[in-house]
Amino acid sequence: MFEKVLIANRGEIALRIQRACRELGIKTVAVHSEADREAKYVKLADESVCIGPAPSSQSYLNIPAVISAAEVTDAEAIHPGYGFLSENADFAERVEQSGFVFIGPRAETIRLMGDKVSAKDAMKAAGVPCVPGSEGALPDDPDVIMRTAKEIGYPVIIKAAGGGGGRGMRVVHTEAALLNSVSMTKAEAGAAFGNPTVYMEKFLEQPRHIEIQVLSDEHGNAVYLGERDCSMQRRHQKVLEEAPAPGITQKMREKIGERCADACRRINYRGAGTFEFLYENGEFYFIEMNTRVQVEHPVTEMITGIDIVQQQILIAAGEKLSFKQSDIVLRGHAIECRINAEDPYNFVPSPGRINTFHMPGGPGIRVDTHAYQNYLVPPHYDSMIGKLIAYGDTRQQAIARMRIALSEMVVEGIKTNVPLHSDLMNDAAFHLGETSIHYLEHKLGISSK
Ligand code: ADP
Repeated sequence: MFEKVLIANRGEIALRIQRACRELGIKTVAVHSEADREAKYVKLADESVCIGPAPSSQSYLNIPAVISAAEVTDAEAIHPGYGFLSENADFAERVEQSGFVFIGPRAETIRLMGDKVSAKDAMKAAGVPCVPGSEGALPDDPDVIMRTAKEIGYPVIIKAAGGGGGRGMRVVHTEAALLNSVSMTKAEAGAAFGNPTVYMEKFLEQPRHIEIQVLSDEHGNAVYLGERDCSMQRRHQKVLEEAPAPGITQKMREKIGERCADACRRINYRGAGTFEFLYENGEFYFIEMNTRVQVEHPVTEMITGIDIVQQQILIAAGEKLSFKQSDIVLRGHAIECRINAEDPYNFVPSPGRINTFHMPGGPGIRVDTHAYQNYLVPPHYDSMIGKLIAYGDTRQQAIARMRIALSEMVVEGIKTNVPLHSDLMNDAAFHLGETSIHYLEHKLGISSK
């Protein structure tokens, strides 16, 4: 096992990884920007290294700075967390070339899955069902583009091969708008992701977002840890997640889970990963694979009892998975609310000093946050300041516990989206479950009128 791991991230996930390392008896190195110097989790780490000024382009995304920090502290492995460099194949490659272990898949796997066109091709070949769409990237020929859309049937969605974070997508309802939308998405994708390649998919009207968590070791063992429902979204970004997904039977879970585990074995996947699907009329359609730990991993941990971050570390250290698929039992229900420093209704970020901070507790409540009383939420990064997770024997109990926990939570000095989550816990459609990815925006549209 490693003696020392460098955590190339910030905020709640940096603290989460630090806790996993400490439990495994591994020393930690926190890297931080000048803006995060005073953060408590930085002080809690065994060592810390400042890697640059506040803007992430000069610190958390600065590959040479991160690698030098690992060199000067003699770390053996680097955990990238989520966001920042976590899905950067060049980073993974540089880490390994510099003699460190990258806690994640091999660079070539990240590259394959980072391009959504090649990811879909690989998944099709592995027998994973995909959203109907263009055969690979869209060519320049306008006639071919028009024909492809006609064959798929409107509405279609134009998506950037290199897209991420809900950006680089455009829905097209009519043939008249098609060519213009394709060229606009290409131009935006080129500017935002350095890759103008786009592809086309059928735009599913009322799908749910359901994803499968997998773990796969270097010895050919792969398991799935059930699914999560992440349909509560705003601007293609997740707001609330739960596991298991309402209405998904054990039989359906096994069928799609086996496909994912099998795909992992075929591509020699290493580490934790997530297969994201849209689910409509009883069918799963693959959209992309995330080759890293996800924000919403705790809901799966709560219902399986498996520590996903520790598993990432064990797999990276070359260990075999210590359990088989038949050992994995899903118990109870878990819900996660992402707590953001933002206006609950217009979503404008609200950085600043937290002057009152009280976190809830009690049976089934887990809080993953790096924030505390007097913490200054910096304006430079993502607005998420933590995650509130509620577990119960049933979905109803998890909702009841979440409702109480939200009512106990006090964060003052900045605005948070706690009122939105409280509202959702009393929402009739959410109670029924099985809402589509458009539900939240629809609800917000109505309530803002
Ligand atoms: P990103 O990498 O930016 O997260 P994804 O491909 O995972 O992009 O898609 C993000 C979200 O966009 C999905 O959860 C869904 O809400 C929406 N979306 C993507 N593809 C489609 C589609 N074919 N039909 C309808 N909605 C889609």
